[in-house]
Amino acid sequence: MTQKIFCLGIILITLNIMPVIAQHSHDHPHYHHHPREVNFPDIPGYFTMSTDLHIHTVFSDGSVWPDIRVEEALKDKLDAIAITDHLEHQPHQDDIPHPDRNRAYEIAAEQVDKEELIVINGSEITRSMPPGHANAVFLDDANKLLVDDAIEAFREADAQGAFIFWNHPSWLRQAEDAVPPLSEMHLKLIDEKLLHGIEVVNMHRYSKKALQIALDHDLTIMGTSDVHGLIDWDYDVHHGGHRPVTLVFSEEYSKQGLQDALFKGRTVVWKDDLLIGKNEYMVPLINESLLIKTGNYLDGTSVYELEIENITGQKFILKNKSDYTFHHHADVITIDPYSTKRLLVKTIDRLDTIHLPFSVMNAIIAPDEYAIVKFNIDVN
Ligand SMILES: [Zn+2]
Ligand SMILES: [Zn+2]
Repeated sequence: MTQKIFCLGIILITLNIMPVIAQHSHDHPHYHHHPREVNFPDIPGYFTMSTDLHIHTVFSDGSVWPDIRVEEALKDKLDAIAITDHLEHQPHQDDIPHPDRNRAYEIAAEQVDKEELIVINGSEITRSMPPGHANAVFLDDANKLLVDDAIEAFREADAQGAFIFWNHPSWLRQAEDAVPPLSEMHLKLIDEKLLHGIEVVNMHRYSKKALQIALDHDLTIMGTSDVHGLIDWDYDVHHGGHRPVTLVFSEEYSKQGLQDALFKGRTVVWKDDLLIGKNEYMVPLINESLLIKTGNYLDGTSVYELEIENITGQKFILKNKSDYTFHHHADVITIDPYSTKRLLVKTIDRLDTIHLPFSVMNAIIAPDEYAIVKFNIDVN
């Protein structure tokens, strides 16, 4: 997040010429962002780094040159991307022969100023099930993963210090019932610490079973675009859509910090209007995203007025879990991106402290479980 400060000047200049931004701007000018920018706050102790670690180019079965991937990521204000072309699936090889499987990464990396975007070398190990497809990211040399035996490819990636995750486990071509086929081979890979994460979200897919596998086996919860065409077309960016991203909570703002955080499982995935992640990272993320503005009792009443400001591009759907009801709203309230909600709480008696717990209906912390946030307001 801190890196984004460098870009603030540009954002402020574009404000004058882009009326679409002005819609969000009149109340709280501090949080102006272009709607497509991925923008989540840091959480206590960690930088929040937005990433897409599953991306294809013409160097496997994608449709674009690697520089376009960099441009897309800059428009989305991501902090890091990994280029992960298929090692074994090379449909463009006759037109674009490339003996060096690091080349797509190198071209992308040459495009960027390191301050702007971290580009990571990766590869998609592309095998039939099991083990199916897996991404190895933070590779030194992708060429060394071109070996016959799938497990040996995982071993080589691991030897290079790579973070390895199971891709699209509910992909119909490898799971006809859309249930991730967790096999003996996967369990062996997990057991030998050769598999570190799993895509709970891939493209438009969300897998509840994959989330359960992540929690059962302590795998890092991942969400990626797996883009082959264009982000703007695949994710309807011009109508408010966004690619799936993995928010990574990193002790330092660097490639190394990001890698460490992935191994430690510090992630929350953002897909459409959903957040998916472990409770210990989800709750701080929501607490930093929704700012409570203390208000006051309306004159001569026991109705307390407060405002909740959402400083992110994520819509939050809150379900009231308190003992009180609201004067204007039912028990489910929605706080739109970059907006402020005024809430009137009927406390019946005038209180010194008001406790307002909410279940966040679009923040999934386990199958059928939603994050609970508690706002404690001191009345003065
Ligand atoms: Zn794949
Ligand atoms: Zn892929």
